[in-house]
Amino acid sequence: MVSLRAAWRTLALAGLAGLGLAAQTLTLTFDDGPNRVRTPLLSPETRNAAILKALGDAKVQAIVFANGIDGGDTPEGRAALAAWGRAGHLVGNHTYSHLRLADLAAFEADVQRCDALIRGIPGYTKLFRFPYLKEGATLETRDGMRKALAEAGYRNAHVTIPTFDWLIDEHLRTRLKADPQASLEPYRTYYVEDVLDQADRARALALKLTGREVKHAVLLHHCLLNALFLGELIHALRANGWTLVGPLEAYADPIYQQAPRTLDTGTSLLRTLAAERGLLPGRAEGLEAAYARERERLREAGL
Ligand SMILES: [Zn+2]
Repeated sequence: MVSLRAAWRTLALAGLAGLGLAAQTLTLTFDDGPNRVRTPLLSPETRNAAILKALGDAKVQAIVFANGIDGGDTPEGRAALAAWGRAGHLVGNHTYSHLRLADLAAFEADVQRCDALIRGIPGYTKLFRFPYLKEGATLETRDGMRKALAEAGYRNAHVTIPTFDWLIDEHLRTRLKADPQASLEPYRTYYVEDVLDQADRARALALKLTGREVKHAVLLHHCLLNALFLGELIHALRANGWTLVGPLEAYADPIYQQAPRTLDTGTSLLRTLAAERGLLPGRAEGLEAAYARERERLREAGL
């Protein structure tokens, strides 16, 4: 399966290269940091340090979107976030409780609670990532939150390249719990191929939508999978022609000024905008449907 997908990618790249197009650019963004839940193999401290080491070794600036839950709002969690800032990375807001936007007042309070957690941390940046990428299911909540964020000086840190890292991470952790000696190699290969594939698809979609290269934002998570394989992922992205830039450079791209009309999108900015312009069949597929398909692919790959 991986070889077929690799072949698809080679063809897609050849097609795009034929158009004589320039730089493919992206920034790495990590949600749900600093996740301090117990996992096989590595302690929470080691996972955080490993992600930071991979970024540091590659000289890449990234952003972590913080929550207060899962150990974020503890002395150890705050120290883990501060380590990001001290290493030159940015720290953004992902709500305190990883809340799904339903009640506007409760959501606003949770955003403010996360802001209070990260405000004093080096690298604090007013970029906001919606949990589940869902801006709100009604006009009232969506527009209310757009207004509240703007008033607080925050920008929506949209995603253009969604990935399945957390799902692959979940499968990896389940396997390691059952068999601590399980080989990591198939997971690494699958993961790197999967992200390259998603990145190429997003690039093609952006070209179709805008006629130009946009500066992409990749959705990753603060998880064991990235503690293990982020270095290799960065290497593979660069080997496939991607230039990695800092979050502020990427988010200066005008694509991020666009506000989708679709309610409760739950998917990438590009897919939402493309669906609104009739460039995708039907409504943009939500992440949930995409995750169900990915689970099936993981099962087929024996992972
Ligand atoms: Zn999240």
